[in-house]
Amino acid sequence: MTITPSTKAVLSRYPAAKIIVTCEKCGMRAKYDKAEMLAAGGDRALTLLLEEIARHKGCQRIDAKPFDVKNICGAIYANIGGGCD
Ligand SMILES: [Zn+2]
Repeated sequence: MTITPSTKAVLSRYPAAKIIVTCEKCGMRAKYDKAEMLAAGGDRALTLLLEEIARHKGCQRIDAKPFDVKNICGAIYANIGGGCD
């Protein structure tokens, strides 16, 4: 098992002040303040946080079977990774 912390995507390394999560499949959209989120729940992996947000927002597909790719939640961080901030 090799873990590389330097590349680990965690909340504190989120490259924008606002965290925007959207799910096209559910029409879900959520916006959070990174600093507030860190204060409220501490630092954690972005993958886990995404699931947490989707669940909290009532995403209907978050619990779809992982192999059921057509039905699984499509939640993404809308303001990172796409060249925008
Ligand atoms: Zn969803």
